[in-house]
Amino acid sequence: MDWTPERIAELTRLWNDGLATSEIGKRLGISKNAVVGKAHRLHLSARPSPIRRVIMRSAIVRPPRAPVEPRHVQHAAPPPAPAQERVVELSNQTCKWPIGHPNEAGFHFCGERAIVGKPYCQSHTALAYVRAKPKAGEAA
Ligand SMILES: [Zn+2]
Repeated sequence: MDWTPERIAELTRLWNDGLATSEIGKRLGISKNAVVGKAHRLHLSARPSPIRRVIMRSAIVRPPRAPVEPRHVQHAAPPPAPAQERVVELSNQTCKWPIGHPNEAGFHFCGERAIVGKPYCQSHTALAYVRAKPKAGEAA
């Protein structure tokens, strides 16, 4: 592998363009290591590496001492949120229970927050359940 003045000029140009060493090697038909080695011998300036910059910045931000665990403060785990609150958080669904008759002007859907996994709100889900399976006591 001859480093002709032309190839050295090309290496220098690509290097200064900020191409990856592997990409430069591909264009010159040589290995990435050959690119790095030649660039080193030519004393081409090290190019700013975005990865290295991020590492350096985070090293500066990080406090020099190891963080101290606050062992003396021991809180019990927070109680689980009530079921109703979880429904509100997890679903924007609204109750599809029809109010009125579809052919009449005032017809609309309930619009209350529906239970997760159900098309109806809490009270209408209960209603639907009662309709489908009447309680034994009510039949008498
Ligand atoms: Zn409803």
